[in-house]
Amino acid sequence: MDISVIIPVFNEEKNIPLLYARLNDTVRKICTTYEYIFVNDGSADASMQVIRSLAETDDSVKFIDFSRNFGHQIAVTAGLAKAKGQAVVIIDADLQDPPELIEPLYRKMQAGYEVVYAKRRSREGESFMKKWTAKMFYRLLSRMTAISIPLDTGDYRIIHQKVVQMLNRMPEQQKFIRGQIAWVGFRQTFLEYDRQARHAGTTGYSYAKMLKFAIDGITSFSDVPLKFATISGFVVSGVAFIEILYALHSRLITKDYEPGWASILISILFLGGIQLMSIGIIGEYLSRISTNVKNRPLYVINETNIE
Ligand code: UDP
Ligand code: MG
Repeated sequence: MDISVIIPVFNEEKNIPLLYARLNDTVRKICTTYEYIFVNDGSADASMQVIRSLAETDDSVKFIDFSRNFGHQIAVTAGLAKAKGQAVVIIDADLQDPPELIEPLYRKMQAGYEVVYAKRRSREGESFMKKWTAKMFYRLLSRMTAISIPLDTGDYRIIHQKVVQMLNRMPEQQKFIRGQIAWVGFRQTFLEYDRQARHAGTTGYSYAKMLKFAIDGITSFSDVPLKFATISGFVVSGVAFIEILYALHSRLITKDYEPGWASILISILFLGGIQLMSIGIIGEYLSRISTNVKNRPLYVINETNIE
């Protein structure tokens, strides 16, 4: 098998036919044996029927149908577990990732890279808020992690089967695949492209899902927030110590003390804030540890045509 294409699908009924046509145009040109793995992530529309009818006429169309919505990263993970291709492409179903780019990605890989990711030069048809939060997130993340996770890059990329083998051995429940791929290493490079607007439908990534994704990314690849909690604890204690000395001095030596409700209120609120924040940060890590300890399967498959 030359190429596997993994396509996570969540309510994409209007996009799949065109995606399939454009994938065929590109993939058939560059290789002879290939498979498309559609992972239906609990779509509420007719996506699964559309995929099924493609599978009936084309043996290259494989599908994994989840029992409910498990999330984009988990859908990709399920595809990776089944991908047989020497080269594996991860692509969105909404045509925001142009399928034609697979050809240059594949050529670049053949020139001697295990990972070629597609970096967004520009993004069309997305809200200012989404673009800005994404931009800030990637910059914050890169400052917090030791491994270099590429900036402004989604999951659209081509990776070698060697990389897929490694990803399949990473059992963590919180998936941040672009970080995991950076962690794996090998020779990595990128190509730039202009990201188009969605062909049809609406985004499946709500702000709540984006926030979870961001915190998963940070907690999976960085301990900086925990260190921040510790350091702010030291700093605040240091300031408090000086204040204690000053209070004792005023009380016992100069005896010029006044009832100071403002300073008391401020220090209580400030300390309370720092403490809650630190507990919250610890809680984020703790809840993720607890999820991993439970060790549940990552997803439940309703039906698949892959042996
Ligand atoms: N997706 C998914 N499960 C989800 C949300 C999204 O499988 O819970 C798929 C979706 O069908 C698409 C890809 O993940 O193929 C990217 O999602 P989307 O386009 O909604 O995100 P955006 O591009 O707006 O960040
Ligand atoms: Mg999209």
